[in-house]
Amino acid sequence: MHIDARSIDDNSLVEGDLCIVGAGAAGLSIALEWKGLNKKVILLESGGFEFDMKTQELNAGTSTGQHYFPLQSSRLRYFGGTTGHWQGMCSPFDEIDFKVRSYVPHSGWPIDRQTLEPYYEKANKVLQLGPYQYDYAYWKGENPDFVSFPLDRNVIWDKMWQKNPIRFGPAYKDDIVKAKNIHLYTNATAVNLDANESVNAIRGIEVKNHAGKSFRVRAKQYILACGAIQNARLLLASNTRAVGGIGNGNDVVGRYFMEHFEMICSELRLFKQFPSSLYSRDKVRAELALTEETQLENQILNGTAKLRPYEVYKDMDNYMEKWNDEDPREAMKNLKESSLLTKLLRLKSRIIAPESFLLDTRMEQAPNPNSRVTLSGEKDALGMPEVNLHWELSPIDKRSLRKIHEIIGTQFAKAGLGRVRIMDFLLDEDDAAFRENVNAGWHHMGTTRMSDDPKKGVVDQNCKVHGLSNLYVAGSGCFATSGAPNPTLTLVALSIRLSDYVKDRLSVKSV
Ligand SMILES: Cc1cc2nc3c(=O)[nH]c(=O)nc-3n(C[C@H](O)[C@H](O)[C@H](O)COP(=O)(O)OP(=O)(O)OC[C@H]3O[C@@H](n4cnc5c(N)ncnc54)[C@H](O)[C@@H]3O)c2cc1C
Repeated sequence: MHIDARSIDDNSLVEGDLCIVGAGAAGLSIALEWKGLNKKVILLESGGFEFDMKTQELNAGTSTGQHYFPLQSSRLRYFGGTTGHWQGMCSPFDEIDFKVRSYVPHSGWPIDRQTLEPYYEKANKVLQLGPYQYDYAYWKGENPDFVSFPLDRNVIWDKMWQKNPIRFGPAYKDDIVKAKNIHLYTNATAVNLDANESVNAIRGIEVKNHAGKSFRVRAKQYILACGAIQNARLLLASNTRAVGGIGNGNDVVGRYFMEHFEMICSELRLFKQFPSSLYSRDKVRAELALTEETQLENQILNGTAKLRPYEVYKDMDNYMEKWNDEDPREAMKNLKESSLLTKLLRLKSRIIAPESFLLDTRMEQAPNPNSRVTLSGEKDALGMPEVNLHWELSPIDKRSLRKIHEIIGTQFAKAGLGRVRIMDFLLDEDDAAFRENVNAGWHHMGTTRMSDDPKKGVVDQNCKVHGLSNLYVAGSGCFATSGAPNPTLTLVALSIRLSDYVKDRLSVKSV
């Protein structure tokens, strides 16, 4: 059922069993799990079904620290969320991503990789990817032309990826709107969480829109699924009863903001041509990854390298340079603009195997408590405080990027396959050039991190906010460390797991 909240009676009260705030990848993955159940779900979405700049401006914020994308354009505010223009690259986290590593301060999740396994399989379906298979052997069976570089498997392995840029809006609108027990309110921005006097439960959410309407939602359980920055903002801004914001008794909300490094770090020159379709296909492909043992031995972060044909990418600006507009439509246009020559070179690289590649790394960022989202002094059009993002890196980030490429270089040389030249900005002792070259993947993580210790995390292992009996957070803000792969497959898996937990608490029965 769909209700446009601009037509709702001012100051009305909406009641249900579960309230989900945000209809992006996380919120919709949860809502779909409740379709047809004997519980009333209120799904609040800030935007409508189509993009609207006035609503988009509610994402506005400032940045300090390491240069970052404009906050306003780095997330989309309408039904379907940022999947409205994401790239759809997916791969699950590795076992090491969940473990405590002595050389990575604040590492370690309270759950392991195995706990997420059944949910990864479900998430794979929600994201409409191919079979839930991420082993090279499986994909080699499907694609006999896939040939893996003959490198030492104790050091380097082929991490498989799948791609499907599914738009959650069009893909799931009918399912949601036709579900009788799901009450989707569009143009409904949550602006405040109202806690009880002891601040141990939420008793309502205040909602507003540009039509000047305000209303209140009362439910038994509440899940925030607004994206990592906006979830932190909502918690911090809900500070009438809880000084410093809800769930923030230990000053952790907004801290440990993490991104993925996505940057070209070296050049690989093969001694002779190699059939590289395994590393260059569009829907399924491999990236070079370092084994757990190699990471531990070298005390480095987890990262992979994808192969980019040198001729196609040699003159390309990094995404951060191109994505410089507050309007996400313009930012995307700048990113996609590629010349006819680039298109021809890309086509050529698919026909004639190139001998030269740029190695484009994806790497986790070490959790850093000073990398954080706080409220700025500004307010948006609905009167809600805006945010400032202070993105801060750690020395292990640069060291790991460099080491990953040194190891790949050594392995290619040992196998007699080629040579790797590392970019100067990673070799320079001074970090200024490195900072100028840093590029990221529009992945917001860690602002409401998971830990069983309330002093170190905002949510517990079930994504429940510490100290509150009926408030949960869904999304990559809950990640304790960011892993090397892009976040959405993992955040959808985590959201479906959270959904099961809340179902148990509401004694849900299917009808
Ligand atoms: C250009 C680009 C490329 C990307 N490519 C990839 C990729 O290849 N692979 C990958 O894994 N990830 C990728 N991502 C990241 C991916 O888009 C996000 O991980 C994912 O969308 C996050 O899902 P989410 O539901 O947490 O947040 P979102 O999808 O942003 O959804 C949040 C929803 O909450 C709503 N909302 C916000 N505040 C409020 C409020 N106060 N009240 C009510 N509703 C609210 C918003 O309108 C939105 O609908 C990319 C992102 C960008 C920008």
